[in-house]
Amino acid sequence: MTEKQQQAILAENLAIVEARIASACRRAARKRDEVTLVAVTKSVSAGIANLLPNLGVLHLGESRPQELWRKAAHAPMGIHWHLVGHLQRNKIEKTLPLVELIHSVDSLRLLAALEQESARQNRSTAILLQVNASRESGKHGFAPEVVPGLASYLTTLRHVHIRGLMTMAALEENPELCRPVFAELRTLRDTLQAKLGERHPLAELSMGMTNDFEVAIEEGATLIRIGTALFTGLQEAFR
Ligand SMILES: *Cc1c(COP(=O)(O)O)cnc(C)c1O
Repeated sequence: MTEKQQQAILAENLAIVEARIASACRRAARKRDEVTLVAVTKSVSAGIANLLPNLGVLHLGESRPQELWRKAAHAPMGIHWHLVGHLQRNKIEKTLPLVELIHSVDSLRLLAALEQESARQNRSTAILLQVNASRESGKHGFAPEVVPGLASYLTTLRHVHIRGLMTMAALEENPELCRPVFAELRTLRDTLQAKLGERHPLAELSMGMTNDFEVAIEEGATLIRIGTALFTGLQEAFR
């Protein structure tokens, strides 16, 4: 497939996703610019990921730190990188300079290590707490019950700044079944916000993937993380 053909497929997939985002925003009486599309590129090559900025998609996400490093090294300027998957502590040092937002902070140990390395690098690190709102065993993330209790610890951090919460719903054939999980994340954000106070605005809710992003938008998502719907027809050569 030539690059021109790849770009045409990508443009077509993006148009479909954008139309779906627009109608979900309309149903929820929200503005399109309240929702940021993060293209999760883990299933495609760096070459295909690098076509996204031509189409106006500047927010790219990866679930594995090493794959993010690799793609970022080959990417054009102006891309905002999001880490959406588990971050091991020995990958923090190399990841911090590359990312705009870490969606997947899932333990106190990781929070403490991020604070320490951010201080060492003299940088501000924006993060979301990942919440296991669907309560699936074996899934990363804080249990919803413990999140309000993290407020006082979070206010002691000087270099790590919490911007909101992230969750992954269970894969459901009917995305309506994900709605309670997304609604719970929003309520939990409001609870944590009340405890943290206005000096720590929790503007972001990262929720919604290919299978369920419209419901997530209706429930208040500000960041949606989309892979499959954008890259249908482009994934065959990779992995
Ligand atoms: C892969 C991935 C996505 C994108 O999933 P799709 O179903 O392909 O849209 C979103 N978030 C995370 C954390 C992922 O790992």
